[in-house]
Amino acid sequence: KHSSIKTVNPFNNEVVKEFDAMSPEQVAKIIDKADEAFRSWKKVSFEERGKIFHKVASIMRDRKEELGKLATLEMGKLISESIYEVELSADIFDYYASKAGEFLADHKLDVKHGDAFLAYDPIGVILSVQPWNFPYYQITRSAAAHVMAGNTMVLKHASNVPQCAQIMEDIFKEAGLPDGIYTNLFVSGKDIEPLVSNPKIAGVTLTGSKPAGASIAAAAGAQVKKSTLELGGSDPFIVLEDADIDEAVKTAVAGRMWNAGQVCVSPKRVIVPASKYDEFLNKTKEAFAKLKVGDPMDSATNVAPLSTEKAAEDVVAQVQKAAEQGANVVLGGKRIDRAGAFVEPTLITDITPKMDAYFEEIFGPVFMLYKYENIDEAVEIANATEFGLGGTVFAKDTQKAVEVARKIDTGMVFINHVTGIAPELPFGGTKNSGYGREQSPAGIYEFVNAKLIRTT
Ligand code: NDP
Repeated sequence: KHSSIKTVNPFNNEVVKEFDAMSPEQVAKIIDKADEAFRSWKKVSFEERGKIFHKVASIMRDRKEELGKLATLEMGKLISESIYEVELSADIFDYYASKAGEFLADHKLDVKHGDAFLAYDPIGVILSVQPWNFPYYQITRSAAAHVMAGNTMVLKHASNVPQCAQIMEDIFKEAGLPDGIYTNLFVSGKDIEPLVSNPKIAGVTLTGSKPAGASIAAAAGAQVKKSTLELGGSDPFIVLEDADIDEAVKTAVAGRMWNAGQVCVSPKRVIVPASKYDEFLNKTKEAFAKLKVGDPMDSATNVAPLSTEKAAEDVVAQVQKAAEQGANVVLGGKRIDRAGAFVEPTLITDITPKMDAYFEEIFGPVFMLYKYENIDEAVEIANATEFGLGGTVFAKDTQKAVEVARKIDTGMVFINHVTGIAPELPFGGTKNSGYGREQSPAGIYEFVNAKLIRTT
């Protein structure tokens, strides 16, 4: 087999299972079928659609251990995090299964005479391209909203999580979702762009890297098709003078080690007042000393391997470059001398605008600590990146924290918490983190036509 689509266990880098890539003819057939299915699915009531997705949620909860193990096998995250992800995904399915009809009910407009309202029509087949870092949640946040809205979906999952992709398709089928409404495309990322011009694809949504997003959004633009993008971030975590330092350290370290640092909304840059810097640094070192790197299937482990060998190499190269450019690598920075895609939990300080690390996203367990003299400087550091996804302000005075939150150029800011995820909260960013929102009421309006109907 010459396909890049395979399960490789990042705990030991062993190839577990390989999959054939689909031929262009197979893919075209799947898109034809999704288009055909759209004609009937759009007429199905919200109640009927909702029954199917509530069932999806209950199957996922019933099988959460099995699903969790599969995610950990394919992309290496801690088993507790995998199971949490399955539960979160089930909650999102339930949310849209219950609420889609309410969100997409006709919306009456206030007009001077006659009547006017918006009717929300689904638009057709949505091409969804998703990454490996949350193999179930990424499918969910895309499919739950857009398929409940009456669209159909073809989903290209990352090449390293084919079994997670397959099991979700199986669960949709088991829950009673008719054929053609949701189908996986087993193709490589580089073969996706030409699919955007297929006239039967109505819109495109992608979560992943900037190059992947930019390429398919450009193709969508050329065809006048709607797109949404979620392209990662380099979230700031600003600690204010009055913050509880123990709590702030605990939250930032746990947030940064979550999913071995491979989370778009992980607190990647921790920005601390000069007066608290030494205390914060020492306590961070103490917290690092307690981290246990190891087998992600073992519940005692709290730092997992990265998703792939290449991901681990890339992170170490970024840290090495930061060191060469003059940053201080206080802890870690190297591969761990064992099998698997492991990188040492890493703590870097003294990062300046002369270094790439000041601007870039590092997708791994790398904690970058910054010092500020006044709040304007903290905000300047926070905003000094091309990304604008999430962020945190940590303080006892919540009102003060909210004032600082207003100055941060991101799509989401959480007070005293890392950027979190919940079905009812919108998720998405600004700047090069992309555009569009997922989850919450907002997520369901991305791929519908808000059609005005006017009577005079
Ligand atoms: P990619 O963007 O390469 O992968 C994400 C998805 O896009 C995968 O399904 C991938 O398929 C697909 N893809 C890749 N290239 C293209 C393309 N040209 N056109 C259309 N689809 C494409 O991310 P990586 O996994 O390589 O990670 C690289 C970096 O991306 C990370 O270090 C991180 O900065 C960022 N990232 C951000 C994520 C987030 O949550 N926002 C998630 C993952 C990555 P395939 O697997 O077949 O290549």
